[in-house]
Amino acid sequence: MRRGPMPQEIICSGCGYVLYKGEILKSPQDILRKYEGKCPRCGKTLNFDVNNIEITSIYDAKRAKEGRASS
Ligand SMILES: [Zn+2]
Repeated sequence: MRRGPMPQEIICSGCGYVLYKGEILKSPQDILRKYEGKCPRCGKTLNFDVNNIEITSIYDAKRAKEGRASS
């Protein structure tokens, strides 16, 4: 099993499909645009609502905020 930095994961709450997983923090907006607002697997409409997408980070929120501000 390969291990590496995985700061962010965006998962469809409908089916668990991993919409985004990567080292770079992306805004949910970018992800939604990429998938045209729908989950490619189950067709669920994706929203920014935390009920619909799940965003996890190994970094704390403060650090993520700093990272975003510096970009
Ligand atoms: Zn889905």
